[in-house]
Amino acid sequence: MNDKKLKKLLKYWQEHLRLQDWEIEITFETAVPFGGVGICVKQAQYKSAQIQVQVPECRIDVHDDWSDKLKDIYTERVVVHELLHLMINVHKEIPFKDRKNNADAYLEEVSVNTLDTLLVNLKYGITEVKA
Ligand SMILES: [Zn+2]
Repeated sequence: MNDKKLKKLLKYWQEHLRLQDWEIEITFETAVPFGGVGICVKQAQYKSAQIQVQVPECRIDVHDDWSDKLKDIYTERVVVHELLHLMINVHKEIPFKDRKNNADAYLEEVSVNTLDTLLVNLKYGITEVKA
């Protein structure tokens, strides 16, 4: 997936998640802070945010022999994942340093993980729960 397609996905999901009024930049990175596969930094008062997505070739959970389509799906889930965090966290944010062993942060992460997969799977008609 190239930068142009990544930006197209951002636009698509911004609309579907009703976040069109946000100014969001998105970039591919070889590594993302805190060892994740994506991160979203926001300035809520300006409705502006920056999302970084790790390129699938640098992810340890994505295998070289996977098809480009599958790699794209994994990338798209990250885009949706970060937008869901943005949506849920507009008014309240648990700082990264306080997220470990925090029940609210855990619940948010589990919910966002389930929803990112569900939404992308629905878009592509993927019915296997574990895909
Ligand atoms: Zn997350």
